[in-house]
Amino acid sequence: MNEATLDRARGALVGGAVGDALGVPYEFGLRLGTSTEPVMRGGGLGDFAPGEWSDDTSMAMGVAMAGARHRTLGTAEALDDVAAGFLDWFESNPPDIGNQTRAVLGAVRRGASDDGVAIAMLHASQEHARGAHRAGGNGALMRTAPVALAHLDDRSGLADAARTVARLTHYDDDATDSCVLWCEAIRVAVVDAEIYVEAGLDLIDAGRRDFWAARLDEARDREPRAFTPNGYTVTALQAAASSILHTPGDGPDHLREALFTSIRIGDDTDTVAAIAGALLGARWGRSAIRGQWQDDVHGWPSRSGTPSRVADLVALADGLVGA
Ligand SMILES: [Mg+2]
Repeated sequence: MNEATLDRARGALVGGAVGDALGVPYEFGLRLGTSTEPVMRGGGLGDFAPGEWSDDTSMAMGVAMAGARHRTLGTAEALDDVAAGFLDWFESNPPDIGNQTRAVLGAVRRGASDDGVAIAMLHASQEHARGAHRAGGNGALMRTAPVALAHLDDRSGLADAARTVARLTHYDDDATDSCVLWCEAIRVAVVDAEIYVEAGLDLIDAGRRDFWAARLDEARDREPRAFTPNGYTVTALQAAASSILHTPGDGPDHLREALFTSIRIGDDTDTVAAIAGALLGARWGRSAIRGQWQDDVHGWPSRSGTPSRVADLVALADGLVGA
């Protein structure tokens, strides 16, 4: 893999983490004005430290660690590792966790099962979705980027893995489709250095392809601020896509301004910015991301009391792509 491609692969993970930490202070808060620059000042729902990432990146770390270890996310063993990583994170008592993910992971932790942990989690997730719950939250989409990096040379393997990793907590067609679409967009950004959010439409089940084509048209046509509230996986994807598509320029300027736009939409700011940041980083590379942000981001998991930092994200990206 050449240096530019590797830089973009690293950018997918670093961009997601940076977007998350930048959006944390504004989650469900007052909408920022169009000239207000978001700052990584911590706080938010989980009272995070400045630069600390939240559940979005922590769960992505669970996916990335398993993917780097197995060099795929498409096997039962890798999926068990993802599920175990989610439980490790859950048992660390994270300050901020989505309702749906809390319900599913809580059910797995409490249940004794002879099955592998991934099978147990899939069952709990399916049970949750069968109840009177909306299962299409954005909590799977927010952590999907590492799946793309593990499958850069295999579109159909990417789609299968994106669906299965999503279903661990979000057993829902909208959630799985959004993960397939975003992963394929990230794959294309890393491999071909272009932003093409429709790239994965052919990987969606034929019966839902028109629905998604119309949603992506809306993201192209409508201003980013149209996509709020964005706790639903479809509007979260549209919010991120619209922010990226409606921001002019290229390189570091495009990455920064599109991230700011994604946060200024308001509502679930850290998650929308984490989603947007993954694709922006995949397109423009880690080298396009402000150095101070890279120095400041950190979070779960900690080893001997030391949180993970950008070097850990880079190492995981390298492991995922086999560099
Ligand atoms: Mg979050």
